Amino acid sequence: MTSFEEFANECKNIEGISGSLEMTSVVAEFFKKVDDDELEIVTRFIMGKVFPVWSEQQLGIGPNLLYSAISRISSLPVKRIEGFVKETGDIGHAAEKAIASSKRHVNFFSEGKLSIRDVYQRFQKIASLTGKGSQDAKIKNLQYLLAAAEPLEVVYIARLAVEELRIGVGEGIVRNAISLAFNISPDLIERGYMLTNDFGHVAHTAKKEGSIGLEKLGVVVGRPLKMMLAQVAEGIQEAVEEMGRVAVEWKFDGARVQIHIDGSSIIIYSRKLENVTFSLPDIEKSVRSGVKANTVILDGESVALDSDKRPMAFQEILKRFRRKYDISATALEIPLYLNIFDILYLNGESLIDMPLVQRRKKLEEVCDKSILANQTITDNTSEIETIYKEALDAGHEGVMLKNPGSFYTPGKRGKNWLKLKPVMDTLDLAVIGGEWGEGRRASFIGSYLLACRDPDSDKFLSIGRVATGITDEQLSELTKLFKELIILESGVHVEFEPKVVFEVAFEEIQKSPNYNSGYALRFPRLVNVRTDKSIEDADSIEKVEQLYIRQKGR
Ligand code: AMP
Repeated sequence: MTSFEEFANECKNIEGISGSLEMTSVVAEFFKKVDDDELEIVTRFIMGKVFPVWSEQQLGIGPNLLYSAISRISSLPVKRIEGFVKETGDIGHAAEKAIASSKRHVNFFSEGKLSIRDVYQRFQKIASLTGKGSQDAKIKNLQYLLAAAEPLEVVYIARLAVEELRIGVGEGIVRNAISLAFNISPDLIERGYMLTNDFGHVAHTAKKEGSIGLEKLGVVVGRPLKMMLAQVAEGIQEAVEEMGRVAVEWKFDGARVQIHIDGSSIIIYSRKLENVTFSLPDIEKSVRSGVKANTVILDGESVALDSDKRPMAFQEILKRFRRKYDISATALEIPLYLNIFDILYLNGESLIDMPLVQRRKKLEEVCDKSILANQTITDNTSEIETIYKEALDAGHEGVMLKNPGSFYTPGKRGKNWLKLKPVMDTLDLAVIGGEWGEGRRASFIGSYLLACRDPDSDKFLSIGRVATGITDEQLSELTKLFKELIILESGVHVEFEPKVVFEVAFEEIQKSPNYNSGYALRFPRLVNVRTDKSIEDADSIEKVEQLYIRQKGR
């Protein structure tokens, strides 16, 4: 049994390491050390996750709830706790400081030490609390956990509670650490992750069953796979030269859905792989009437169409995805339609290693035409041009050019799916900071500091600020959203936990010493707040470099 104290010590140690190789080997050693039945939990904890992303279990602890728990246990007012957060720039150290300043420390656990499992079980309990009175019960459970913890443990329990461990261990490090610990190729670990979306499960399988066990991991109905992604197309001619014949589909302006059907049960997952079935009864209904299969996994795009059958703004669709109440009324206002374009599993058989043309045949067998995306296979560039124009005329984004012989590669942004859009110059960037406005806008955060991802270090590299394209209504909504994410404030400058992705259009990328990515955006303009994307989906520095190089060649 591993104590939580050991976990906290490891975290502290890792926090002080800057090189990713050293970090990987420390994490690998820890993975080897913990008991088999703790490995799943530890693998997630070390990335700041308590449950797999797709799990029904959600902690539901925001900063305010955590502050209340710390306030109760330390008998300090919430304002003081907020003060500590500003001062230390970190919820973990703020909690430690607040609790250390209170006199009492009680240990409720018989063995005297909190184990990793104790902490996990308490989090499970917290996640199970819903409905009336649940907020208070969650606070009490957190209070109980924090009261039983030693000062260093408090730091990491508090950070885990808000699922933000801040020790720099991201997906890349964990993948390599599992590989190193159990002597398995990183590609096999990655494949397992793309299929299961849970490094905890992958680590456990790697340890217990080795490569053979990992190779056996497959597609399972009810466990979402990472979605296959697209690269930017150079052009129609280039795509035809590369692929020969091309499967052309409209690139619908909507939101991605992955649909799992098992008998009468239907689960709809969003692009972030969250279960959104409850919010989308109209999609569920179309699936129920339009799909004939016992067990199946489908991939598609949901679009909101107005009375002229033109796509509504992306923000409208997102209103549907986040809805918890008034669902039927909102569904009437913003009706969603399905365009299914792929099938990943059918009646007991995984289809991801089957060429697209064959998957398409199966798809046509099980799906009614009314919910299918049209597809044309051709090598005729003017025919593709015509489809592209039709898609744009209909108000959609452009076309997808797919390789008809390609497999479905979960989570990969490869050459087999290319997207062709008229405005290619947008980036999805993490928002890491901001500035309070001036004059009339003094109570709003008016400009936002943007960053791309560095996949090697899992850090964010700044690339520019955006203040244009934000409506007054959005300004107040964004201020509300980002106020919750402030971790440091000095004068007008604020630093945010990187949680939100902005899709930003711009005229040009320039080299610049002003931002630590080495690049800056010329005339950036906010296009969309991509609440459907997680921070891991933010574009990487490589993507920025590619766009920069391409733009120079134009
Ligand atoms: P992007 O978000 O710009 O990288 O473009 C890829 C996204 O386009 C996918 O994640 C889907 O949500 C969306 N999309 C729309 N139509 C299609 C289609 N026919 N095939 C694949 N993806 C599509």
